[in-house]
Amino acid sequence: MKDLVIQKLKERGVSIEKVAEIVYELQSEYFPNLTFESCCEAVHVVLKKREVQYALLTGLALDTLAEEGILPEPLLGIVQNDEPLYGIDEVIALAITNVYGSIGLTSFGYLDKTKHGIIGELNDGKYEYVNTFADDLVAAVAAAACARIAHSSVGSVENED
Ligand code: MG
Repeated sequence: MKDLVIQKLKERGVSIEKVAEIVYELQSEYFPNLTFESCCEAVHVVLKKREVQYALLTGLALDTLAEEGILPEPLLGIVQNDEPLYGIDEVIALAITNVYGSIGLTSFGYLDKTKHGIIGELNDGKYEYVNTFADDLVAAVAAAACARIAHSSVGSVENED
């Protein structure tokens, strides 16, 4: 199922490397020995988790159904317009950040504000899709990968799951 999730993200212009760039940007100041490769590895480990895969499949499917115009109203309009008070996109994303506890939550809150890299591109509609769920899900995957690196504490992601 991990490959399917990676494929679904790719269809929206989101690669492992683009997510890892955000992780590297956030964590390299705390872990000077951190490599870009270990950030990619952390993203892969996050995407291996079943609850992360389910959250991604659910949110990305809702974005796709909104693009195709086949969600029932009023949900269709809410998701298509990324209604600010909707908030369920963030709630689904929390299922991802929760995997690594409160550090993930802090990074997610930060990324939700700053919209680093690919998150900002998704949010600005640079890609011609509905990305109401996608931007939060990608921020959550990046935040969880940051938390994993922080938990492994030396920037080495070899030993933990
Ligand atoms: Mg959103």
